[in-house]
Amino acid sequence: MTTNKRIYLSPPHLGTEEQVFMAEAFASNWIAPLGPQVEAFERELAERVGAKGAVALSSGTAGIHLALRLLDIGVGELVFCSSLTFVASVNPVLYLGATPVFIDSEPDTWNMSPAALRRALQEAKEKKRLPKAVIVVHLYGQAAKMDEIVRVCQEYEVPIIEDAAEALGASYWEKSCGTFGRFGVYSFNGNKIITTSGGGMLVSDDRAALERARFLAAQAREQVPYYLHHEQGYNYRLSNLLAAVGRGQLRVLEDRIAARRQVFRRYEQGLAHLPGWESMPEAATGRSTRWLSVFTVDETRFGCTASAVIKALEQADIESRRVWKPMHQQPLFTGCLFYPHDENISVADRLFDQGICLPSGSSLTEEEQLRVIETIRSCQSHSSGEALHVYL
Ligand SMILES: *Cc1c(COP(=O)(O)O)cnc(C)c1O
Repeated sequence: MTTNKRIYLSPPHLGTEEQVFMAEAFASNWIAPLGPQVEAFERELAERVGAKGAVALSSGTAGIHLALRLLDIGVGELVFCSSLTFVASVNPVLYLGATPVFIDSEPDTWNMSPAALRRALQEAKEKKRLPKAVIVVHLYGQAAKMDEIVRVCQEYEVPIIEDAAEALGASYWEKSCGTFGRFGVYSFNGNKIITTSGGGMLVSDDRAALERARFLAAQAREQVPYYLHHEQGYNYRLSNLLAAVGRGQLRVLEDRIAARRQVFRRYEQGLAHLPGWESMPEAATGRSTRWLSVFTVDETRFGCTASAVIKALEQADIESRRVWKPMHQQPLFTGCLFYPHDENISVADRLFDQGICLPSGSSLTEEEQLRVIETIRSCQSHSSGEALHVYL
């Protein structure tokens, strides 16, 4: 415990083959623009998740933006979104001048509540203003209740976009997160389970739509011998160099999932017995990657708040975070509709109040993790009345 390095929440973890693929790209002088590494990365990722095709992009946010464009979302139209998420899930709705409506979480997976979604769709139908899309997030590496969500969206004929930015490698029954909706999106941002330093992927079984995504992501340049443009496009393609990194990372994805799940198990062993300390549940319907190890802290039983634990960890040079502040609570979205899980109880609000994300990197050592666990235990014993008894 002498040379304590800072412990990060979710740092990159390189494998051994990234540099091999990078060297290939350099040797062929093909560091840009698009090229064989991009094509191979797309093919390999599509195969891994079981989608018919994939388009490599500069970010996950770009993927959500393109998916919305492909569904022709326009100004003033509605898009239903998970409330408990990172703002990147919803910003692209604003890019298109559309209006988000927020759906609460349910307690089993912390993801979109099918009950709240059904209520929202019913009301929308009565008002003759159904959404043009539903963006479902798979939070922290765990699948949403896709059976129910797909069923209710089919009933109302609303297409689904899956924001699987945090859930590459996660499954629902035997199927990969990101392959249930019309489109699925993954992120390779620096903190995700695998990374290209920055990047994303759009997947679908609709090959024609993916071709159109490629076109839009490359400035919507028409296939003629000069520069001809009928439509507004974007510069959203992934560079060949970063695709090389992605190919190397994809080869260690299974190891990374196993390591993150192991990190979570060690936290459970070290902390589960503390009163008021609870784990994010794992639904029996699938396999969570445990991209982040997330817990809730009940202040009255644990003796202090999640924020106090985060502060104590910071003092020990350990990075931890609150759970996402729900979108319906964000000043950016003031005035947007919100449908809670139960008429008057918001699950997302409780998770924001109580939630804490602990260091979860696949390279976290057992010693480092022990430091995290001991710091948390010390928060509890200092503040709880029961533990004070022992001290007296
Ligand atoms: C990371 C993340 C994104 C955005 O991905 P980028 O590649 O950073 O653009 C979108 N949604 C969620 C839920 C995320 O965690």
